[in-house]
Amino acid sequence: MHDDDPNGSALPPIDAATAASIAERDWGLRGPTRKLGSNQDYNLRIDDARGPVVLKIANPVWERSAIEAQRDALLAVAAAGIAAPAPVGDLRTVEIGGVRLLAHVVSYVVGDPLLDRATFGIAECRMLGETAGRLVDALADYAHPGTDRDSPWDLRVATEVIGRTDPALLARLAEARARLEALVPDLPTQVIHGDVTDDNVVLTAAGEAAVIDFGDLATSWRCAELAVTVASVLGKTSDDVAAVLAVVEAFGDRVRLSDAELTAIWPLVVLRTGVLVACDAELVTAGNAYASARSASETRALETALELDADEMAWLIRGVGQPLAELSLRQVLPAVEPVDLGVTSEVWNDGAWLEPRPWNDRIPRSGGDRAPASRYGEYRLDRARVWSPAGSATVFSLGIEVVLPRGSRLPALPAGVVADGLDADNVVIAPTVWLQACALPGTPPRYVTARAEEVWRRICPDPSPLAGVEVAAPAPDPGTLLTRRDAHLARVQEHYFDRPPQIERGWREFLIDTSANVYLDVVNNVATTGHAHPDLTRAATRQWSLLNTNSRFHYEAHVALSERLAALAPEGLDQVFLVNSGSEAVDLALRLAMTATGRSRILAAREAYHGWTLGSDAVTSSIGDNPRALETRPAWVELMDAANQVRGRHRGPGAAAAYLADLDAQLAGLDTAEIAGVILEPIFGNGGGVHLPEGYLAGVYRRVRAIGGVCISDEVQVGYGRTGHHFWGFEQQHVVPDIITIAKSMGNGQPLGAVITTRALAEAFSADGSFFSSAGGSPVSSAIGLAVLDVMEREQLQENARTVGDHFKAGLERLAGKHDVIGAVHGSGLYLGVELVTDRESLAPATVLAAQVCDALLAQGCLVQPTGDRYNVLKIKPPLVITATSVDFALDALDRVLTRLTR
Ligand code: PMP
Repeated sequence: MHDDDPNGSALPPIDAATAASIAERDWGLRGPTRKLGSNQDYNLRIDDARGPVVLKIANPVWERSAIEAQRDALLAVAAAGIAAPAPVGDLRTVEIGGVRLLAHVVSYVVGDPLLDRATFGIAECRMLGETAGRLVDALADYAHPGTDRDSPWDLRVATEVIGRTDPALLARLAEARARLEALVPDLPTQVIHGDVTDDNVVLTAAGEAAVIDFGDLATSWRCAELAVTVASVLGKTSDDVAAVLAVVEAFGDRVRLSDAELTAIWPLVVLRTGVLVACDAELVTAGNAYASARSASETRALETALELDADEMAWLIRGVGQPLAELSLRQVLPAVEPVDLGVTSEVWNDGAWLEPRPWNDRIPRSGGDRAPASRYGEYRLDRARVWSPAGSATVFSLGIEVVLPRGSRLPALPAGVVADGLDADNVVIAPTVWLQACALPGTPPRYVTARAEEVWRRICPDPSPLAGVEVAAPAPDPGTLLTRRDAHLARVQEHYFDRPPQIERGWREFLIDTSANVYLDVVNNVATTGHAHPDLTRAATRQWSLLNTNSRFHYEAHVALSERLAALAPEGLDQVFLVNSGSEAVDLALRLAMTATGRSRILAAREAYHGWTLGSDAVTSSIGDNPRALETRPAWVELMDAANQVRGRHRGPGAAAAYLADLDAQLAGLDTAEIAGVILEPIFGNGGGVHLPEGYLAGVYRRVRAIGGVCISDEVQVGYGRTGHHFWGFEQQHVVPDIITIAKSMGNGQPLGAVITTRALAEAFSADGSFFSSAGGSPVSSAIGLAVLDVMEREQLQENARTVGDHFKAGLERLAGKHDVIGAVHGSGLYLGVELVTDRESLAPATVLAAQVCDALLAQGCLVQPTGDRYNVLKIKPPLVITATSVDFALDALDRVLTRLTR
């Protein structure tokens, strides 16, 4: 091809009938035809009686010799036992539209392109890698003058090609160019296929990988063959690093590349993704439909390549691409004391992991003579990063750091040990000495991301023999934990995510898994004061050390917490029952209503969740939680419509009157003397924070009271300051209930709930005898409940819920302006919902997308879950300590994920 027309868009218009007539005239081929995609040529499949073939009419930019070279290469490849098209007849010149064009025919390989497979996984990656290796092997001695051509796909000229079309992109690839430059003199060349990808590898009926399309055949760097294939798998599997390494490993089984070539692979992969994006952009501008269909996935591959750490990738590729040295390590250290610096280490309590002070300044000096040493294979919490995608922080330790006396001296180190902190005579010259075993030449990274752990363990093996004792941290194993969970926890006890991270630590609005990935906790309405709040730790520890017992004893905390709750509740609601959960509180509230009224039926809303106990479950009708809920509610429960102003029977903020009219009609058909009361959430929590229409609750309460019933406000989710603008959810509807139920935030995860009611209702309950819940309001629970309220007050968490929550909601509304899939943003303060729909008119729920968004957000470092009867509302209810910076991180992640999933 010629330099001035790198993509060869010079082909005249060709219609299938013309091409078919040429095929018949010049090659005697006849049969049904189908046009095949190509970046530059015209390809027509003809199903001739003797078998299917492809007529290839070459773009005029092709030199004749290049096409001859391709046809010869087909023969060479076939001779090496690789299934490939066979040349049919001669290379000819045909004339179309007054232009003379080269045309030839090859047999059509029948099979499924890997591209078309429903799933593309590690097996396909291995197949591509192996095929690329076999081709390099088959073409090692192949020579033809037609292979020396100027091609934009030759990675030797990648810089020029990208620079010519997209200088801004070239600037982003500077690191890859610099890494490659030093290696160029050591990269051997040969003829390569140049495009071994899932486009061009076809699986035949016999299960054999066949290679098609030799249009990019050219002399180039040998390792470019592998780089092209590696680039082609990026973004196609759920684990890019594993996919890359599978290609490299399978290639390496066929062709042994040098260390320099393997080092060059990653920069070449980055440049290849850049070439594809740059050339595609040019073709798309020129109107090439084939190119524009591909450009989204090519942009994704480029971004993936740039996101992965270049140094890590180079080491990993070297690690799987060649045999590793066998190291023989022996003891060189004096007695050491391994120190746990992992996720659950107490060294990092109270957020110490975020402070810059190094670990060796933090550990208590035992006074013993053993040298403190960090552990190999530790996921170091102090290296974890907040606000980062999972797997992106370099936390995994490939060596050990030992605190040795300055001036002391180590014996000669065995081969393959990399050290720092020692002078040329192995005398200690720094506060700590770093030791790392490495089975490859060079200075490896000390800490890497939590990817490809097994490969790293091979490249940099356990240095324990240097210490003479075990200095390796135990490897985290969330998979085994899941198996153990499945063995003894019934399936109905669900967990978030199919492949859940094992979360063992929290701090403020963050949760941390055993591989030191830090997630922003956007889903937690239990940890109001944030995770691991030191005040709560202290309150719990102190109370445990003093007393914990049942609540029939007389002690301060029980009374003090009840006083505080009574003071927070509206005038007249000053009787408090402390229990252990929301379900328990709801059950008790229902019994209070029934006993006080002497009636047995309860009004409750559809689509609501109130708990799991017999009573609280009876008034729970969410089919999201229980698909049979509507058929199986007991007779004493009377369900009302969910007054959902977004997707309910009546819509809009003025829908209250219509819902109340429906209720009137419903009550008219009931024996209202049986109705003990109503239970409602003042904001639809289960629906994802949907506000009730203005005036609805007041209307319901008026009607229920008029028939002699009592009104229960379930504030388990939406009360306790969460909505920011009010402490209680019912305040938003300008009503005062007769009974309030609370739990969740009240204990910040400690089993603690409460019922708050009037003296009259509480007294009436005596008719049922006494009330006693052994651990409800226990000394420890009460102490924690008091500490939660103290923290909320001191840190002004309701105020934070208002300001940061408003900021969150405004950001979500901004995203709704950008992403059509956001049908509505519900809620207020830090109780928000993002309703995903496939169509804004019909509000058809985007249930599958919601699940995909949550999985993708997990990978981006954000924990979000769907809720609602259709599981299409993202529930946004983070700890109330969340900051605006964290909110912006979540908004950016959601924006990215929605862009990617809905493109
Ligand atoms: N009421 C509501 C509104 C709830 O959301 C829940 C729990 N999701 C409960 C009651 C039950 O609370 P618990 O899980 O503490 O029993």
